[in-house]
Amino acid sequence: MTDGIDEYRFLEEEALKLGCEEVRIIPADQVIVENRVRLKCMVGCPTYGKNLRCPPNTPNVEEFRKMLSEYSYAMLLKIKRPEIPADDMYQYFSFYNDKINILLELEKVAFKEGYNFTTSFFAGSCKLCEECNVDGDCINPIKARYSMESMGINVHKTADNAGMELKFDTVNYPPSISLVALLLID
Ligand code: SF4
Repeated sequence: MTDGIDEYRFLEEEALKLGCEEVRIIPADQVIVENRVRLKCMVGCPTYGKNLRCPPNTPNVEEFRKMLSEYSYAMLLKIKRPEIPADDMYQYFSFYNDKINILLELEKVAFKEGYNFTTSFFAGSCKLCEECNVDGDCINPIKARYSMESMGINVHKTADNAGMELKFDTVNYPPSISLVALLLID
């Protein structure tokens, strides 16, 4: 009989098997949500209004707070990013397409164990398509996930609280930081 965090060890093991660099299971109330994160989406982010999984095409921060309150646990994942030249967007898009499969697989594993409300979020805008079909419907609704930031999640503070160290490269783009993703489990 397992309880609390231990109940989700099978997902942690699966995430590591699928290639995640680091995994933390945390109580869902340790996911930090702040209105100012959404403000940063609105001011200066090039994908604001240009991606169907970014604001304003997302639940608002208050709606997400309510959704989050219905979950007990979350899993934070760190995914190692290979060195990708700043001008090689093709490689970057293909990396994103590949890694989102980790999240989808984890959702599937959780679902099979009866946690059928498990859902995931990736850091940054959806990059499944080279150009988002922003004036129409999502081309890949089964795979596309909202970005963590668009929900108002303060990724750094949440990772800090979970004891996960993140490095932030402010010189290169795309930055050579590890990518972070989140699963809400239930
Ligand atoms: S899958 Fe394509 S159309 Fe859908 S949100 Fe992502 S980039 Fe946009």
